[in-house]
Amino acid sequence: MATSCTVLSTTAWCVDRRAKSLRVGQAIAVGFSVCSAPDQLRESAQTWAGDSKDPRAADAKSATDTENGAGPATKPEHSSPRGGPFQRFKSDAGLVKWNNRQFTLSLSNKRGGVGGVPNLWLRDSCACHLCVDPDSGQKNFSTTDLEDEPQVQHAELTPDGSLKIIWASDPVGGADPHITVFPAEELAAWCSEGPWQRGRVAKHYNPRRILWDRAKYEDLLAHDRCRVSYMDWMDSGDAFWNAMTDLRNTGMIFVTDVPQDESEVQRIASRIGPMQYTFYGWTWDVRSKPQAENVAYTSQFLGLHQDLMYHDPIPGLQLLHCLSNTCEGGESLFSHGIRAADQLKAESPELYNDLATDQVWFTYRKGEHHYYRAHTAIIRDRYGGSKETRWAPMFQATFPQGLGGPGGLRRWKRAATAFQKIVESESNMVEVKLKEGECVIFDNRQILHGRRQFTAAQGSRWLKGTYITQQTYLAKVTALEKEIASRKAQPEHPPHRHVRLER
Ligand SMILES: [Zn+2]
Repeated sequence: MATSCTVLSTTAWCVDRRAKSLRVGQAIAVGFSVCSAPDQLRESAQTWAGDSKDPRAADAKSATDTENGAGPATKPEHSSPRGGPFQRFKSDAGLVKWNNRQFTLSLSNKRGGVGGVPNLWLRDSCACHLCVDPDSGQKNFSTTDLEDEPQVQHAELTPDGSLKIIWASDPVGGADPHITVFPAEELAAWCSEGPWQRGRVAKHYNPRRILWDRAKYEDLLAHDRCRVSYMDWMDSGDAFWNAMTDLRNTGMIFVTDVPQDESEVQRIASRIGPMQYTFYGWTWDVRSKPQAENVAYTSQFLGLHQDLMYHDPIPGLQLLHCLSNTCEGGESLFSHGIRAADQLKAESPELYNDLATDQVWFTYRKGEHHYYRAHTAIIRDRYGGSKETRWAPMFQATFPQGLGGPGGLRRWKRAATAFQKIVESESNMVEVKLKEGECVIFDNRQILHGRRQFTAAQGSRWLKGTYITQQTYLAKVTALEKEIASRKAQPEHPPHRHVRLER
């Protein structure tokens, strides 16, 4: 992604230019000269001591400030923590302390502080052009090449608030010193967001999740939300990104005016990413047929469920393109699993806890396909909130004897019954009779879907479906995050476009 590292690459470029043009000794001299003049310095040790949870705060407060000016701080502190005595450097941007093992930062302007950032992590995270190939984005060294405790020659907070570290005798590029720069906004994130991974690895656009019930979802549709025309979806304009935002936030959108062509579901999916191949194929047909290998391929009522709970990975998104639906009945049903889970939690925390604790086995056994997987019906995130659900009664295998201790299965059944009652309640279920030319895209890890019985004697019903893995979906969501940021930065839009990118 060209835009993925705008901030970092800009910074890296500055560093590179400096390192390239000056080469080692000179580079260091220039690096030091960035230090603020003494009259510009403000006492920041107090801020640091107040903000930080680090027990060494008191040391910092009492330490003398002899290191102002044009040279690096060398005066050891009173204590000798692991890694030896600290050196420190202050500027308007804050205070940096380091020894041969770790760094401690205290940023000015109440942006907080962070302690115990290992030198090895800092050195390993360098994204300069020597460390990360600017073309391929791949790392040019192995973590194993580095010293256990890379030695710091100098460190400072530059006037723009970036942390600049000069490593002594670095293995990358021979034994020359090496410069690493962490931009100011990244430092602020270390301080406010906890454990930080450079390049925002595995961090995705955090949705303003709308846990809809029937009335809410119908209201969204009435306000032109969660719906996008095929033409707009295939285009990369605002309408596409708005629809992606709605998909991320609500878990379900409808693409309308889709051409009557079997391969369209594939084209629609390709806007997000490659399809997920399963033993059902790249795409599959939902229409009734005799001796169906899956209950979906009959005309029976199909209770609310999620697909492929027995599969690894479980699909992230499911797409269903309606090619015809003229039979009587056959309405599609959708319900928000997380809403139901949260409602259960509010009504009965013990029952919620049972569903989030006891594992259920799911299976598919047909011909040579023997699939098994176990999940809890409710999956919690690391903060204890409801993240995803796993619900597919028709694909449940048997329970292990003694599930969750004596009376375990009875207890699980009680909890599952309560969840099912909520998720299937009329006020929570959205009922839609898909029309020819409509394609629904929904989050298979959060939204349950089902279908009313239909009469196959007259008319026809044919849906073409496919899946997209969660990883592919989230890769697009990462692009969505950048898209939102870039559009926020450029408020000028053609007036005929209705822009509603929001966070
Ligand atoms: Zn580097």
